[in-house]
Amino acid sequence: MEQESWISRTQQFWKVHVLLGLLLITLISFGGVLWKTNESVESAIFGLGTIELVLIFIGMAGSTFSWMWFAFQCPECHQSVGKWVMRHSSFNTCFTDLISLGKCPHCGYSG
Ligand SMILES: [Zn+2]
Repeated sequence: MEQESWISRTQQFWKVHVLLGLLLITLISFGGVLWKTNESVESAIFGLGTIELVLIFIGMAGSTFSWMWFAFQCPECHQSVGKWVMRHSSFNTCFTDLISLGKCPHCGYSG
């Protein structure tokens, strides 16, 4: 699949790995927030309190969103493809839509 997608033909598949890493850290920090708010015992995750964990989660969610928005660009028309996918796909399908693109949605450049 990697070889067939527009993302890999335009040498941008490494950005998908970065996106997945960011997404993973975001989910872990979200899990940390949930765990911390449900925790009745006084405990800290890596010495972090609830406020710090919430801030990390917001920061990571923002970074993930920004990466998706700005990192994926068409080498031909230099338009943001990540932005296009986020505008035209639902939250649940935007990731698979991004990696399964066959050509640039702006100019039709196929890589
Ligand atoms: Zn293009």
